[in-house]
Amino acid sequence: MNIILLGAPGAGKGTQAVALVKEKGLAHVASGDLFRDNLGRGTELGKIAKTYMDKGELVPDDVTVKMVLDRIAKPDCANGFLLDGFPRTIPQAEALDKALSEEGKSMDKAVSVAVPNEQLIKRLSGRWICRGCQAPFHMVDAPPKEAGKCDHCGGELYQRDDDNKVTVQNRLNVYMKQTAPLIDYYKGQGKLLEVNGNQPVDAVSKEMLAALA
Ligand code: AMP
Repeated sequence: MNIILLGAPGAGKGTQAVALVKEKGLAHVASGDLFRDNLGRGTELGKIAKTYMDKGELVPDDVTVKMVLDRIAKPDCANGFLLDGFPRTIPQAEALDKALSEEGKSMDKAVSVAVPNEQLIKRLSGRWICRGCQAPFHMVDAPPKEAGKCDHCGGELYQRDDDNKVTVQNRLNVYMKQTAPLIDYYKGQGKLLEVNGNQPVDAVSKEMLAALA
């Protein structure tokens, strides 16, 4: 099964992705993580991406599409993958559909996680992420058992540069303008599932799994 997780920054895509890939045995492909990995390794792609990421803007479609298509061509994606943070524009979605159809494949479902705007801002500004396994925590709502340390792999927790107030607002604006239209795109394809993301993590996971069953 090939699944897309749709939702604004802070909607809980990362948290839900961790649970969902485990449950369904899928490869987790998060475009933001791929960019951050390139950034950390100082690659040319990382340098290009950084100028956009720092402002909360989207990295250009051609660069992003190539990076993700290369990733899903890897063997661990052959039995199904979960896309988290991609596609984020209609041209990205079209490029994905085209590339998959050339191989006789397609996306099966797009799960949209809805959360009110004021919640998103609160979540992002308190977010801490594991450097090791990328699992997200929240200072107030979902703190780690031990301060600064990941509950899952013991990795170090850090705050993302782009989780600051100004950049967060821009990322939400960019989401509304460029990414939200994908909800109608996948509705039109009969693949959209809508989940209420404004409830406890386990309740969201349960609703998601029931929708996908
Ligand atoms: P994320 O970790 O998904 O919040 O992504 C962090 C940043 O990476 C975004 O604000 C964008 O600058 C960039 N990015 C991630 N995914 C995409 C995408 N599908 N298209 C363009 N830019 C992206």
